[in-house]
Amino acid sequence: MTAPAHPSRKTSLRELASRLPKMPFSNNGDGHASVPTSTYFGVNTFGARQMRDKLPKDVYAKLVAAIRHGKKLDLEIAPTVAQVIKEWAIGRGVTHFTHWFQPQTGLTAEKHDAFLNFDDDRQPLEQFTGSQLIQSEPDASSFPSGGLRATWEARGYTAWNPASPVFIVEAGGTRTLCIPSVFIGYNGEALDEMTPLLRSSDALSAKAIELLELIGDKGVQRVFTTLGPEQEYFLIDRSHFALRPDLVMAGRTLVGAPPPRGQQLEDHYFGGIPERIQACIAEAEHELYKLGVPIVTRHNEVAPSQFEMAPMFEETDIAVDHNQMAMAVLRRVALRHGLQALLNEKPFAGINGSGKHCNWSLAIAADNPELDGFNLLKPGKTPHQNIRFLLFLAAVLKGVHRHAGLLRAGIASSGNEHRLGANEAPPAIISVFMGASLTAMIESIAAGKTSANAAQAMIKLGVAKLPEVEKDNTDRNRTSPFAFTGNKFEFRAVGSSASIAFPIVLLNAAVAEALGEITEEIRANLKKGKSVDDVVLAVVRPIFKETAPIRFEGNNYSDEWVKEAEKRGLPNLRRTPEALEQLVSRPARTLLNKLGILNKAELESRYHVRLERYVKDILIEMHTLKEMIDTLVIPAAFNYSGSLAASAAHAVSAGIRNVPQVEAANEIGALITSLRGKRDALAAAIEKAEGLHDDLPKQAKFLTATGADAMLAARTASDEIELTISDDAWPLPKYREILFPV
Ligand code: ADP
Ligand code: MG
Repeated sequence: MTAPAHPSRKTSLRELASRLPKMPFSNNGDGHASVPTSTYFGVNTFGARQMRDKLPKDVYAKLVAAIRHGKKLDLEIAPTVAQVIKEWAIGRGVTHFTHWFQPQTGLTAEKHDAFLNFDDDRQPLEQFTGSQLIQSEPDASSFPSGGLRATWEARGYTAWNPASPVFIVEAGGTRTLCIPSVFIGYNGEALDEMTPLLRSSDALSAKAIELLELIGDKGVQRVFTTLGPEQEYFLIDRSHFALRPDLVMAGRTLVGAPPPRGQQLEDHYFGGIPERIQACIAEAEHELYKLGVPIVTRHNEVAPSQFEMAPMFEETDIAVDHNQMAMAVLRRVALRHGLQALLNEKPFAGINGSGKHCNWSLAIAADNPELDGFNLLKPGKTPHQNIRFLLFLAAVLKGVHRHAGLLRAGIASSGNEHRLGANEAPPAIISVFMGASLTAMIESIAAGKTSANAAQAMIKLGVAKLPEVEKDNTDRNRTSPFAFTGNKFEFRAVGSSASIAFPIVLLNAAVAEALGEITEEIRANLKKGKSVDDVVLAVVRPIFKETAPIRFEGNNYSDEWVKEAEKRGLPNLRRTPEALEQLVSRPARTLLNKLGILNKAELESRYHVRLERYVKDILIEMHTLKEMIDTLVIPAAFNYSGSLAASAAHAVSAGIRNVPQVEAANEIGALITSLRGKRDALAAAIEKAEGLHDDLPKQAKFLTATGADAMLAARTASDEIELTISDDAWPLPKYREILFPV
């Protein structure tokens, strides 16, 4: 007897998938001719420029004041603004509007309402009022609040953030007006990612202005942070995705033997982009251009089927919105091309994961054209500019040093846990890379080898030449979680699927606090009658000394660094639960509370939301893995061993004396027995974990240790079977097939 001859799941579904439309794409989507990007960039947004053209002058002036100074919108002008936005939107075929906000799910949320309304004679008309623009009240009870808001008082409000332009999303042949909003509770509690970000920007701005004024830079209206997030992601065939319950349920593979060829040939990085992928990326970019998202870079990343897109940097809150839009558009457009975008931090074990390198700096907004737009982390040309640079640099080092653990907490998630420290991404230890020339400067200042006068010292140390030096520098450290890159820092440890808002909130807060302390020091010194030039070095010298442990120029992936970091007293928070605990530590609470960014309850809710999410993620993974073992892996192994047995019986009845199928079947039998044991241990771990549901921290700790071990053991046993049974019998697309599409 032979095994039943039904076609394998893999084959039949793959055939189906090959019939999926693979949409071609021509650059403007509306016709065949290529049109220059600049002619349609931002057509689906209503930003400052359109407002200026369409709004009455006084209304526009008030709106700009609100945007520029981060102030609340004057309620009197709302109806006029709503009216012009409505006309614009209707002119572009929009039927619905929604407040678009970022609850703490990592994603965005929207609830569409039609413009359609009826007048007193029951005649239909389009309506969009000032209050609809400014505020809406979604039923908020189903969003995570971490206990901040009990469901019985489920009210939450969304409120327009006028600093971020409204935009039109085109999907499924419909057009929806999206109003970027914050999401707050009945008493103003921050329920979302954006509210604390805006508060942290305000806090940082206030502290920075105070310092700048003290050193003689008058007329600064605002200091804001700039952000350029480089987004890494995988694009794989949708049919492969659909065949893998682990990718569908968890966003990452839970079983899968590594292919003989991974990324060791280094042939993918910066290689030619496959045509089908190119069509998808170009279409996504096209949509993003219409939305005013300035994507300027695309390239292959290190792993096979991995890519990156990077925008031109923008003011942080806009960049955060734009990154959310970029992730959403990428996911949506990929489907049109029969592809699936994977944004998880570690979709494939043993293959590089994805991060989101956040390039971050501080800039000035001022009426004074000499100061307006000035990048505070760019070594300047004049001695005074260099003093400024030095002070802000010292503030970043001080903030990151003091709150390294907290910054680690800001990037903690189940996905990022597999990536950090996996010899491909920065480790869980936060350190700062400065580059050779800046290190030399910092060290000579710390050692007191410079003259006391800062302006003179800056000239001697050649700070003004640093930008040129950095530009030529090719020895960029790719292993550092937080690297200075000439005129900005690159926070490289942020996960690819994460909202960037929270990591930046914590960074802004840490730097704001340090700026405040530096200001106090300088003020105290100036009182003694000294000049700014003469006190700056006295103030930064102890900072450069005390923050020496956070600076590291070597290989962050090495084991030596882990030991060295321990000696230096740097936290190494490898697992998510221990990292998240930092959020409820006293220093974190004090920091965020005193800067008015998050009060105790808001901070605790963030801890709770994140920890709960971690537990849910891991439990989903464990259940999915168990189900895959039970319904896919073990049945496939049984089928294969059954076919070996049948073949052995055949051979014996044909009088063949040497029947190796028997030995092979016995070997498979042993592997199945081993896997069943691991599967039972996994099931036991699930049961135990679920029994701990009353004690979230305990549950998380159990899952991160016993739970993760049980998953790994089951996976290893499954991978052995994958490598043993026939290719045709294996029901899942293999890494080889997924990552090296033909
Ligand atoms: P490099 O290639 O040297 O890393 P790029 O100039 O290409 O640097 O920038 C990489 C990313 O950093 C881009 O997204 C870019 O927009 C961003 N970036 C550049 N300058 C700044 C800045 N001042 N603040 C924030 N991000 C920046
Ligand atoms: Mg990169």
